[in-house]
Amino acid sequence: MAVAEAYAQLVSVLKGTVLANERMQRHTSYRIGGPAALYITCDTLADIRVATEVLACEGVPWVIMGRGTNVLVSDEGYGGAVLTLGNEFKRFAVDENANLHVGAALLLQRAISEAFNRGLSGLEFAVGIPGTVGGAISMNAGTATHWIGSIVDEVITYRPGEGIKRYAGEDICWYYRCCDIPMSEIILETSLKLGVANEARVKDAMESALAYRKSKQPLEALSCGSVFRNPENCKAAELIESCGLKGYTCGQAQVSPKHANFIVNLGDATANDVANVIVHVMDEVRRRYGTELRPEVKFLGFASS
Ligand SMILES: Cc1cc2nc3c(=O)[nH]c(=O)nc-3n(C[C@H](O)[C@H](O)[C@H](O)COP(=O)(O)OP(=O)(O)OC[C@H]3O[C@@H](n4cnc5c(N)ncnc54)[C@H](O)[C@@H]3O)c2cc1C
Repeated sequence: MAVAEAYAQLVSVLKGTVLANERMQRHTSYRIGGPAALYITCDTLADIRVATEVLACEGVPWVIMGRGTNVLVSDEGYGGAVLTLGNEFKRFAVDENANLHVGAALLLQRAISEAFNRGLSGLEFAVGIPGTVGGAISMNAGTATHWIGSIVDEVITYRPGEGIKRYAGEDICWYYRCCDIPMSEIILETSLKLGVANEARVKDAMESALAYRKSKQPLEALSCGSVFRNPENCKAAELIESCGLKGYTCGQAQVSPKHANFIVNLGDATANDVANVIVHVMDEVRRRYGTELRPEVKFLGFASS
């Protein structure tokens, strides 16, 4: 793997930036994570093309990241390149059918407010979900009753070595917190089917979604949101709480006393602290209920990731 050669080639040609040994704690909502060998912001499609070609040539593995709100990066960091999307991918526009076309790097919350400002409805359920539109599509972000995949008209991706791909929303399989867009593709843009709605009604729906979130979730703490997927027919938070694990702490990582499916960083948590809490919670839930909890959070830089 030739990280130094890749850096030398990319730093002079990309419109975006290339950083070496960039601490990932600066780029995750957990504020945790050791250095990525390269942290590359691709401002244009040409940047993505060149970056993925050079990385492939030099044998440097890469991952694409949005705002890192659903990622736990190891304390040792990641030996490959983290790609993220910049300026050209923050665009948005509304067409005559009330479809909102949004770049993958736009914050989901910005997309929601742009939709609201144009009198459009359909994204209210996502109020309070942090991160980018690209991350939301990849994760099929949502709530217990609504998810973004249900309003997707089209997704445009870039497949390294091949080029642009277009997927109709109805041809994508949308699962619970994931979809079948290949992991090797970079989501560039999506269009969302919205509708025209009464402004007061949309505002009410957004305010009550946010109030509900604030009452249930430790939004003031550093976290990645829900750590575990809900098993079929029950809620991970209820299983964890009934094992008496609220407040369970390892180092500076703690099962939130407010919401048992949130593991929060009390200030100086390491990825190891969080991983130890995750393992303990999984062990206890398995011992008590025979249920295997599956993490929703993505791991980067760990032995098995
Ligand atoms: C306080 C809090 C509350 C949360 N509440 C919710 C919630 O209610 N519902 C919910 O679903 N999630 C929730 N989350 C989790 C998280 O915000 C979502 O999963 C979000 O959509 C991730 O977006 P991101 O840009 O941060 O993606 P990242 O965390 O950076 O990445 C997540 C995944 O998406 C992939 N990805 C990101 N961008 C792209 C791209 N352009 N192309 C291809 N793949 C990409 C990454 O490779 C990774 O696999 C919450 C998180 C926090 C911190």
